Amino acid sequence: MIEIKGVHKSFGDLEVLKGIDLDVKKGEVVSIIGASGSGKSTLLYCINAIEAINGGQILVDGVDVHDKNTDKNQLRQNLGMVFQQWNSFPHLTVLENAALAPQVVKGFSKEKAEEIATKELTHVGLGDKLHEYPTKMSGGQQQRLAIARALAMDPPYMLFDEVTSALDPELVGEVLDTLRLLRDDGMTMICVTHEIAFAKEVSDKVAFFHKGLIEEMGTPQQVLENPQKERTKQFLSKVL
Ligand code: ATP
Ligand code: MG
Repeated sequence: MIEIKGVHKSFGDLEVLKGIDLDVKKGEVVSIIGASGSGKSTLLYCINAIEAINGGQILVDGVDVHDKNTDKNQLRQNLGMVFQQWNSFPHLTVLENAALAPQVVKGFSKEKAEEIATKELTHVGLGDKLHEYPTKMSGGQQQRLAIARALAMDPPYMLFDEVTSALDPELVGEVLDTLRLLRDDGMTMICVTHEIAFAKEVSDKVAFFHKGLIEEMGTPQQVLENPQKERTKQFLSKVL
């Protein structure tokens, strides 16, 4: 379980998170929506300790993420993260890309790492691209590689930050299909997304961020179909 309790985060004078409370239980899919600059990415970076926080607490399976005694590398092994921009190593093949972290971080043999990587790449539909170079693939394929690479570490949690927003529209579907597969596998996920229809379909819970606070949170039916807050209504009227 991920427990986010009263989290505050500032960059200098700019307070970006103003007291975020959010629980993500095992097997849940939580979508985060909200305007640009509302603090969505910053929260993900705080969850995996890329960013420090200025107040509150984040627990991952009971481990205090920002405690100075917490092993950050250990923690990040539990939190697979995929960003908007794919960032694979261009000089490595698809298979080498996905097999790298299990070798370097987990100390697996090349054979074992490649076996795991092959399984995950096949799972996301890249089983026939193992020996391609990522630069030769479409954006959607590269993004699925990024997902497989994260999955190869076998994390109990996955954090997705607008993984489809840099893609051409015709490539969005294949990446969303991959996320649906993960949801069906029971993966616990936090998805920052602009894809409202997708959020409606897959989420157990939707959180609408507004200026560093969760303005409204609930089931997709509550937040997306029957929003109570004026700001949620305004936001949805612009993006739907
Ligand atoms: P978007 O939908 O555009 O991705 P977001 O909700 O993810 O927006 P964040 O990236 O979390 O927004 O940014 C929230 C605010 O924090 C913005 O005003 C941004 O400029 C600021 N910010 C983010 N990272 C930093 C940083 N490293 N240093 C200073 N300010 C930052
Ligand atoms: Mg962002």
